[in-house]
Amino acid sequence: MKRIDFLTKIVPAAVLGASLSSCKRRGEGGRSSVFTRTVNWRLASSFPRGLDTIFGASEQLAKRVKELSGGKFNIRVFPAGELVPGLQVMDAVQQGTVQMGHTASYYYTGKHPGLAFETGVPFGLTARQQNAWMQEGGGRELIQALLGRFNVHYLPGGNTGTQMGGWFRREIRSLADLKGLKMRIPGLGGQVMNRLGVNVQILSGGDIYPALERGAIDATEWVGPYDDEKLGFFRIAKHYYTPGWWEPGAALAFYINQKEWDQLPPVYRSILETASKEASADMLVKYDARNPEAMERLLAKGVKVHSFSQDIMEASEKAAFEIYEEESKKDPLYAEIYKSWKKFRAQSIDWFGVSENRYSESVGKMKES
Ligand code: CA
Repeated sequence: MKRIDFLTKIVPAAVLGASLSSCKRRGEGGRSSVFTRTVNWRLASSFPRGLDTIFGASEQLAKRVKELSGGKFNIRVFPAGELVPGLQVMDAVQQGTVQMGHTASYYYTGKHPGLAFETGVPFGLTARQQNAWMQEGGGRELIQALLGRFNVHYLPGGNTGTQMGGWFRREIRSLADLKGLKMRIPGLGGQVMNRLGVNVQILSGGDIYPALERGAIDATEWVGPYDDEKLGFFRIAKHYYTPGWWEPGAALAFYINQKEWDQLPPVYRSILETASKEASADMLVKYDARNPEAMERLLAKGVKVHSFSQDIMEASEKAAFEIYEEESKKDPLYAEIYKSWKKFRAQSIDWFGVSENRYSESVGKMKES
């Protein structure tokens, strides 16, 4: 196959444009391969293989990068714990232990609290709103400015969609029922719950089920029907609450060591950008396709779905915004990110309120009647 045939058949237009222009710049002409350098990278994921939709995004990215580079750019993917523990992926990328990671920025709010806005915060944006803010609303530039302080180049790494509010052994009818409740809920969601009187527990994925089983915790959150079903919480706690207001559209990210990114030939950077966007979009598609089926199975097993009461929703939203206002006073970059996010959020809520949300509401009511 002639080189140009290969390029037009396999490489997307954006990558093709970049590769041909880089050839021209080097005066190589269109015939010689643009993939002159063999690159071997290691990617540390923060996630176990069992989370196939999330972990699978890294494998999909690696496969695509290899194909698009004609086998020259190889990324070997390692699940959490094989090279580094899941919560140390950012450190490993920062220090160059690995060239690349797949993680959630909100694990690293200890480094800077503003990182939470890249993943999403309580009462924040849905997946579509988050993508729009990041890609078109100025979010990505602000987040990159923050990650740049840590020697990290950002690429999008997927989204789970709106998560569920978790599994409760007893019904939670009002704010008063949350007082003293032992719940596994990490991050900012946990900070908000703490302000509402919840006894917040932080447990990693594998430790949740046994803790729930022996009554060490009364409730836990995880992701949504597809992932939650696999961990079997429904066997112990039958009350499944909605919505997961602390993660209305949890985004993941690919982190790349800045020096490694800078050293990559431009065409390889384009390939990574393209493959990361593809893997991101596909993760959400998988959740949107698999969650409804999993929810049907859970309902058939006797799971009861409840909505959080209005007093819980209002008190949680108030507590969440108190936290954002407090943090804004401490750090100028946090304040800048918060300001951009808050403005985008307000407009976006209004727009979705008269378009998609209004439509879903109407169709939902007609289905019930
Ligand atoms: Ca969650």
